[in-house]
Amino acid sequence: MTNGDESRDAKAGVVGWPISHSLSPAIHGFWLKKYRLSGSYAALGIRPGDFDRKFSALREQGFAGVNVTIPFKERVLEHAAEITPAARDTGAANTLTFRKDGTIHADNTDIAGFARLVKSAAPDWKGRDGPVVVMGAGGAARAVVWSLLAEKVPRVFIVNRTVSKAETLCAHFGNRLEVASPGELRGIGRKVTMIVNTTSLGMKGQPDLAVEFEPGMRSAIVVDIVYNPLKTGFLKAAERNGNRIVTGLGMLLHQAAPGFERWFGVSPEVDSELHETIARKLR
Ligand code: NAP
Repeated sequence: MTNGDESRDAKAGVVGWPISHSLSPAIHGFWLKKYRLSGSYAALGIRPGDFDRKFSALREQGFAGVNVTIPFKERVLEHAAEITPAARDTGAANTLTFRKDGTIHADNTDIAGFARLVKSAAPDWKGRDGPVVVMGAGGAARAVVWSLLAEKVPRVFIVNRTVSKAETLCAHFGNRLEVASPGELRGIGRKVTMIVNTTSLGMKGQPDLAVEFEPGMRSAIVVDIVYNPLKTGFLKAAERNGNRIVTGLGMLLHQAAPGFERWFGVSPEVDSELHETIARKLR
């Protein structure tokens, strides 16, 4: 699908601080090359103190839109005229489109990114088949919970270091959510269809997320949205227990697709070549 020639040479990028670690330029660069588009996609490091001034200048500089990463995902909502239900409910946006009428459309594509990851890696999984455990209660947990509720998961247990944050998340999303302690996992684990890590534990330089997997939990699909390293200690432990595992890189790739389509007018494919190209950068 294309929006015509104008969008094919559009200018887009990712704003954040720090930004050098971002894989978004590599993902969009792969697609620009694959679809032979003359557009561009840049890493735009903006220091938090300079944010309002530099962010406002992006439209004048001809940007069609930007991805947004840490620490601006919440702050950009103040600038948007149209906020999708996904972004409003999670309180964060990662994909902005600068529209011709001068307004900004803000979306949170992590939700769709997680849903597509699950659909492609575990197509037989059905949300309504049973409860899910979500480790973590930060921004990514909100996106994952939104996606799980949309898939009709009957109960979502939230396990988080700071219990008050888990309680806030549960209060926000309603009565299908429940706070659980790590100690309760053993009992709950036998019933769950999926266990998802949304904490930053397991990321390069961080300790692993320690979960005591046992044979009774084997039927749960275990997902880690951390993608660097590709296979975290949490996933390795689940694999040793015999669980099916899903790595987080696919979510990163899928969350990038809606922005690319909006700015460059082509619906990009998340294929094994893209997966392998980006995975190589993490090795
Ligand atoms: P965040 O809002 O800062 O939340 C961090 C979460 O990790 C909180 O639940 C926090 O618990 C927990 N945590 C951090 N350090 C911990 C520790 N030492 N022990 C126990 N829990 C700890 O971050 P986020 O935006 O949700 O991102 C979380 C992770 O998801 C990051 O690794 C990010 O790269 C990844 N992510 C991946 C994708 C993807 O596309 N694959 C998309 C989004 C995010 P407390 O509440 O107790 O602090």
